[in-house]
Amino acid sequence: MADSSHISRRRFLQTSAAVTATAAAGLSPLAALAKPVARHNSHPVLDGRWIEPGQEGFAMAAWPNNARWGSVHPRAIAMCATELDVQKCVLWARNERKTFLIRSGGHNYAAFSTAPFGFTGPDLLIDVKAMNAVTVDRERRRVFVQGGANNQDVASALRAFPLAVPSGRCPTVGTSGLVLGGGWGFSATHSGLTCDSLLETNIVLANGKLETISGNDELFWAVRGGGGGNFGVHTSFTFQLSEVHDVTTFNIVWKPGKQVELLSKLQAIQNANATMISTRSKARPSFAGARPSRNQIVVETLGVYWGKQNELLEILAPLFAMHDTQVKDIYEVDYWRARDYLLTDDPVGMYQIKNSYVGEALSDDGLENMLHWMTQWPGGSLRQDNMGILFAIGGKVRNKKPEETAYVHRNSNYIYEMEASWAPIDKQLVVDRQRDWLARYFADMQKYVQPESYVNFPDRDLPNWQHAYYGRNLPKLSRIKTQYDRENIFKFAQSIPPA
Ligand SMILES: Cc1cc2nc3c(=O)[nH]c(=O)nc-3n(C[C@H](O)[C@H](O)[C@H](O)COP(=O)(O)OP(=O)(O)OC[C@H]3O[C@@H](n4cnc5c(N)ncnc54)[C@H](O)[C@@H]3O)c2cc1C
Repeated sequence: MADSSHISRRRFLQTSAAVTATAAAGLSPLAALAKPVARHNSHPVLDGRWIEPGQEGFAMAAWPNNARWGSVHPRAIAMCATELDVQKCVLWARNERKTFLIRSGGHNYAAFSTAPFGFTGPDLLIDVKAMNAVTVDRERRRVFVQGGANNQDVASALRAFPLAVPSGRCPTVGTSGLVLGGGWGFSATHSGLTCDSLLETNIVLANGKLETISGNDELFWAVRGGGGGNFGVHTSFTFQLSEVHDVTTFNIVWKPGKQVELLSKLQAIQNANATMISTRSKARPSFAGARPSRNQIVVETLGVYWGKQNELLEILAPLFAMHDTQVKDIYEVDYWRARDYLLTDDPVGMYQIKNSYVGEALSDDGLENMLHWMTQWPGGSLRQDNMGILFAIGGKVRNKKPEETAYVHRNSNYIYEMEASWAPIDKQLVVDRQRDWLARYFADMQKYVQPESYVNFPDRDLPNWQHAYYGRNLPKLSRIKTQYDRENIFKFAQSIPPA
């Protein structure tokens, strides 16, 4: 257990000269921080860089993935280069009573690495992006990933080997955020979530200590699905690697029509081949414009089959017999080419995303309702490609029990995601209409889904978010939060509350 009680509220000495002098006197660099500050408003001297508004690079470093929060800035950004930098920043923020947030890839949908509450930035953004080394231990089939590495960094280091960690689709999503919330990807149904391959992680706690956690440690339980930003700043992760081989990728788009039949059959096929196939299926309008009619909506599935092309063609045959396709790309390729093929682009512009888990399958009534809401989309400048998506997340993910890790959603087969997105050209009225549509659509779908949401697809407007993200694991998470962060310094609008 980490003991934070001995940390006083004294101001800390922040100059590197003093740190060096104290280190020379035989004290550890962190102990060197436990001295009174020489002057007010000083900040830690970093191996990395401390950036303030007006300095070169500030706007770029502050920019979040969701441009909706693009004009929200912190008062300073600490681009950390070492674990010691992170420790200094946590202690400085705590002792100076500064608000702060942590950032790795910056892709949090609800901007919890940008604005802790509302549209106001924190005093400090602790950014670990520059700590992005990835080291492969082929003998032991492990990979060591620093907290700032993203999916692309990990893939680039691994692609020379037939070994991989299940990870997400977007190359610039940070490994930190991905694994801490669970980590869906096209390998999930076959190999589990990203967090299911985590062996240990280094974390800087509220008391400034750096700890390595693994195995049966309760904090290690909590960080596998508890979501980023809650317990400390993770500086590295060690993952078990899984062997990978040739697979078959597919991208199939049917002509408009028969949407319910196709999506229903796609789910049946997914569920019948739960660990062998991974689909991201959706319905989407075929072009931009308000209130698309049913005969303008197409069904599309993208994914991977962990076997031969001819086997997949046999499995998908009923779908091809059902309705004509307009795109039918099916390729047998090596794992890394498949990974490249399945990448996603960053969403364009500003967006709000909502999601729910689906137990066995979204029923025909549920699919009908989804299509009804798609035809009600009030319009805006962007084509809405992501109005109703089913990400397969059953198969191997269900092998663990809901209470085995903090990721509680082990009894589901799909994440059902719905999104509204807009661009600067869209007037406030257009944005308000879209957000209102999304809220009513989400509420009306609740009778077909489970009252659960993926913490890595967070939504600030989600009612009952604590139960939606954590379900029965909430009391344990709150207890662990109290144990490691009694003063609740790791805090934002949807952070885990202490018990
Ligand atoms: C384009 C796009 C594609 C996506 N694709 C997928 C996908 O395929 N699969 C999937 O599961 N999810 C996906 N996501 C969601 C993504 O997993 C989450 O948004 C994830 O939390 C982002 O991590 P990040 O490090 O990039 O973001 P950040 O915004 O930097 O961090 C996310 C959260 O974790 C905290 N955090 C960040 N770094 C640390 C750290 N080192 N220690 C402690 N806390 C930290 C932040 O404070 C924040 O609360 C996608 C998101 C986008 C925008």
